[in-house]
Amino acid sequence: MTRRRALACCGAIGAAGFAPRGAAASWLGDLLKLGDSAEAPADIFKGDAPDDALWSLWQQRGWAREAAHYLKLDRNVQCKICPNNCLLAPGDRSHCRNKINRDGTLYTLAYGNPCTFHIDPIEKKPLFHYLPGSRTFSLATSGCVLRCLNCQNWEISQRKPEETKNARGPELRFRPPLPAALSQDDMSRLSLFPDDIAAVARALRCPSISYTYSEPTAYYEYARECCRQARAAGLKNVLVTCGSIEERPLRDLAQFVDAAHVDLKGFDDATYRKLNSGKLQPILETLKLYRDLGVWFEVINLIVPTYTDRLDTIKRMCGWLVENLGPDRPLHFSRFHPQHKLDHLPPTPVETLVQARDAARAAGLRYVYIGNAREVPDADTTFCPQCKRAVLERDVFAITRVQIDEGKCRFCHTPIAGVWGV
Ligand code: SF4
Repeated sequence: MTRRRALACCGAIGAAGFAPRGAAASWLGDLLKLGDSAEAPADIFKGDAPDDALWSLWQQRGWAREAAHYLKLDRNVQCKICPNNCLLAPGDRSHCRNKINRDGTLYTLAYGNPCTFHIDPIEKKPLFHYLPGSRTFSLATSGCVLRCLNCQNWEISQRKPEETKNARGPELRFRPPLPAALSQDDMSRLSLFPDDIAAVARALRCPSISYTYSEPTAYYEYARECCRQARAAGLKNVLVTCGSIEERPLRDLAQFVDAAHVDLKGFDDATYRKLNSGKLQPILETLKLYRDLGVWFEVINLIVPTYTDRLDTIKRMCGWLVENLGPDRPLHFSRFHPQHKLDHLPPTPVETLVQARDAARAAGLRYVYIGNAREVPDADTTFCPQCKRAVLERDVFAITRVQIDEGKCRFCHTPIAGVWGV
């Protein structure tokens, strides 16, 4: 978009969603920057919005809702939720595949229609310092704002809602009493709206709800309303996210979020673009904002051979984490296994993971873990930073020994960072 075009659109700004009207000026600034930048445009699917018949079915189901945080630019719209800033002409579909421009209005197609859900231990997210041993009701819709070459959930993250859900069969609503089992066909027709979610999570004895597997930023409107209603019902909300989100929507969402797991997929911008189709700086800004907002969060870093396994880069990342987030922020290194477009690479060598853990500890981080590598001793054990004794031991996702009382080491009474009880 040219500067002249952006200025011509100025009078049209003031679009829908949760956007405060006063925000238009700064968003116009963003828009001008976007127009001037040499950034590659988002991956827009031209003319890929559902036809009238499918759109009508989607609306009848309640699976289409007007989007939040976007601009109306004549008949075009621009989403302001993540740094992709998708600019859509009528009939276009967004980079994350979940949003469309229908007649000059931006809609999400991923609302109330999760394509998968499970009951997970909170350790599986992974979150090791947040309500350990608790169960979390975990759900996802299709779609993602990134394109990670190593994505382990690409069957849902790189799909559009119409490829994971079926609006043509009989409607199925998920609410207590819950069915004993769901077939794949049931799942494709299932609705789970925000006003059902607290009752469902309670019926399944889960104190928290996790927005996970794909990317909650891509189903922002659904996740936000679920979070809002779950919070009102006394449940906790957990985001498992790549962190690629703009400040305003993150602030808007985070007011209802209790804990987050943020993927820091590397510490080199060029690699971030190549491996994930993302950018490093927005993720760093997200981490700092979570810090400022006081939301409990943990950081995960997947070490991918030949992409993110350089020890000097890992050391720089750990230095940044200590300096900006403090020594008490848990860091989980995770072992890569061959999958998706990187199935030709070997798993991360154990020595690389151990070297990364050593570097993180040497940088000053107090709680460092290694995931997906059972052969590494104490890979998932929490140690007291003062007396160095094991205070929380795990076997994969199961808690096997707890030596923490009221958030303190049972041996020397040093506080252990985290949220240990509801
Ligand atoms: S959330 Fe989706 S539609 Fe919005 S800017 Fe990001 S990729 Fe584009």
